[in-house]
Amino acid sequence: MIGWGILVAVITALALAVFARRRELVSTRERLAERRTALERGTHKARLLYPQVDLTQCIGCGLCVAACPEEGVLEIVHGQALVVHGARCVGHGRCAPACPVGAIALTFADLNERRDLPVLSDKLESTATPGLFLAGEVTGFSLVRTAVAHGVAVADEAARRTLRSESVPDGVRDLIVVGAGPAGLACALQAKVRELDYVVLEQDELGGTVAKYPRRKLVMTQPVTLPLVGVLDRESYTKEELIETWRAAAHGQKLPIHTGVVLESVSRAADGLFTVRTNQGEWRARFVCLALGRRGTPNKLGVPGEERTKVLYSLLDAQSYQGRKILVVGGGDSAVEAALGLAEQPGNEVALSYRREHFSRLKPRNEARLNEALQRGQLAALMATEVQRIDEGEVVLRAKEGGAARELVLPNDEVFVFAGGAPPVTLLEKCGVSFDPAQRAATPPLAESGPGFARALAVALLLALGVLVWTLALHDYYGLPLVARIDSRWHAALRPTGAVGLPLGILATLLISFNLAYLMRRAEWLGPRWGSLQRWMTSHIVTGILALLAALLHSALAPRSTVGGHALAALAVLVATGAIGRYFYAFVPRAANGRELALEELHAQLAALSAEWDRGHRDFGERVRAAVAELTASGPWMGSFPRRLISLLASQGRLRQTLERLLRDGREAGLAADQLEQLAKLARRAHRAGLMAAHFEDLRALMASWRYFHRWVALFMVAILVAHIVIALRYADFGGSP
Ligand SMILES: Cc1cc2nc3c(=O)[nH]c(=O)nc-3n(C[C@H](O)[C@H](O)[C@H](O)COP(=O)(O)OP(=O)(O)OC[C@H]3O[C@@H](n4cnc5c(N)ncnc54)[C@H](O)[C@@H]3O)c2cc1C
Repeated sequence: MIGWGILVAVITALALAVFARRRELVSTRERLAERRTALERGTHKARLLYPQVDLTQCIGCGLCVAACPEEGVLEIVHGQALVVHGARCVGHGRCAPACPVGAIALTFADLNERRDLPVLSDKLESTATPGLFLAGEVTGFSLVRTAVAHGVAVADEAARRTLRSESVPDGVRDLIVVGAGPAGLACALQAKVRELDYVVLEQDELGGTVAKYPRRKLVMTQPVTLPLVGVLDRESYTKEELIETWRAAAHGQKLPIHTGVVLESVSRAADGLFTVRTNQGEWRARFVCLALGRRGTPNKLGVPGEERTKVLYSLLDAQSYQGRKILVVGGGDSAVEAALGLAEQPGNEVALSYRREHFSRLKPRNEARLNEALQRGQLAALMATEVQRIDEGEVVLRAKEGGAARELVLPNDEVFVFAGGAPPVTLLEKCGVSFDPAQRAATPPLAESGPGFARALAVALLLALGVLVWTLALHDYYGLPLVARIDSRWHAALRPTGAVGLPLGILATLLISFNLAYLMRRAEWLGPRWGSLQRWMTSHIVTGILALLAALLHSALAPRSTVGGHALAALAVLVATGAIGRYFYAFVPRAANGRELALEELHAQLAALSAEWDRGHRDFGERVRAAVAELTASGPWMGSFPRRLISLLASQGRLRQTLERLLRDGREAGLAADQLEQLAKLARRAHRAGLMAAHFEDLRALMASWRYFHRWVALFMVAILVAHIVIALRYADFGGSP
């Protein structure tokens, strides 16, 4: 009866596992296709912030994917998080805190290429000019919440240093804040809390970029605390709600905000005091906070006629434009949202001009709305077109078609340009902010918590030897057939319920429980946070092997066809799959510190390796290199887990044969033994790297399938173990009878 129960449980578990895995594979295929599209369009890279996933640590729980408000930035692929549409990341920063194992770090993408990001200390202070701070989007970090956090941090730092510094001459303030967007406003409110003598200078009006959003635009945010105002705890506010709250705060707190004041330069004298020059005179202060945003100066098209009053760079209220012929220029979300808003107004004829052939960085919601509007003929999308001239009643565009170009003349009343904003680099440099990437501190590498296999295997080997010694010492008991053991003097102690056998069973159970605690350590929200993952992984391997040995001794080295025997068999399978996983692990590309590599990094490593071939015998080295390249050049393995596994094993076999042949040829050609050895080493490294690059997805898929299988076997083993314990407690004879 119990046997049938177990069979049904096995079949059900298998069916469930296969079903769930199939579903996962389908979605993995879809996401990989998405990633390929993103790579082709170049949208896999972020414009500013970028989540970097440490695959060594990622447990594929999907919490980061769920936490990200933008669609498609992160997806689960091969059981782990992968950045798919990096360009959609706007830096909400929710993924990193949502990750239970700290496997995500928010970084700037391609920092070395960026000449538009200021070089700042972690206190947001210009490294080139002490006392000059930046806050908000001008630092490169977007979002209202970040702007507020920056503003508060700068005011706090200024207050801390003001307390410590000497008194200053009359007329010198503690702090001058330039810009009254969310960063400047938060800085001003916190400066008031910290009782600083401060003033805010703003060229336009309170609210910054948010004040320029279209009417009723929803601003997505996370709970944010504004000093002296309190928590804004909703997920979204209309632009009008936010501006009204900010205006009420500025008015209620009587903030000294001077509007219509344009910053021209900042200089720091030898005494460390700043002079801030504006179109309305000079201000002096101990500290300056520049919260200028990045959109102060919209990018221009630089075409004749752009100075006409009908050319605008923001759209406040689409309803004000009706019955008009409108051209919207740009390919981002702002351009598409404006074009859609204008196209919905009665009588408007709206065309959207974009210089590229595809829209590549739109939010999925905007992309879908745009496609619907295009299908309905509500607006026209003029792809691969550029504005040439803007005349009074028309605009002239240049359309690229293949290699040729033709002119397109459109009747026109208004032009809206959404070509992004130029960060005020020149102004900031004049004020003492450096943008030189060489001055930037290197991004610290992600902390590595490798698994420490070597140590674990050494411990396991020692333990296995111990068991061997035990077995040999008691061979006159273990060597007996089961029925004959009853008469042995060792039986009372060594049988499963005996004085030694039972504690061994209990030990095996405890070890398995401890072994599973590793999973809880990986999913930190479930279990303890102490101890490095490396130690836990080592103990996972050691306790797994030790549990198997203890269970084997508990069964008196004679597992029976009982629930306990099945639990032991499942445990043995589990340990064996663990060992196989170790083999796959070696094929997952890793950096020297053990962190799993992304495909782009792997290609860079491969390119660096190619320089090493010339160090051996040149001609022969070239022959070996060509042979290795041929071995790794085949297309994706495709197919199922077994097929991928066979391909991996076969590729290793082919490498061995090829190397044997080549080394034999090398010896016959009279090459020195140490030179041949070096070449063989290089060939193995190159083959592994080439294999990893050519079969990146295959290898990750192999690892993912294995992880999946390993977990299901573990689950199954735990189920039978529980059944074994329950049955033993109910029916086993723990007394003296043999
Ligand atoms: C279309 C769009 C949609 C967005 N949606 C969201 C969203 O949903 N959620 C979200 O959190 N964020 C969103 N953002 C980003 C968010 O608006 C910005 O990150 C935030 O406004 C930055 O605040 P800030 O104070 O740093 O800069 P800003 O808001 O840009 O304020 C800078 C201020 O400095 C002033 N200034 C500039 N130069 C000078 C000068 N020389 N002299 C004097 N004053 C000067 C400007 O006039 C401006 O008032 C969006 C941005 C855009 C463009």
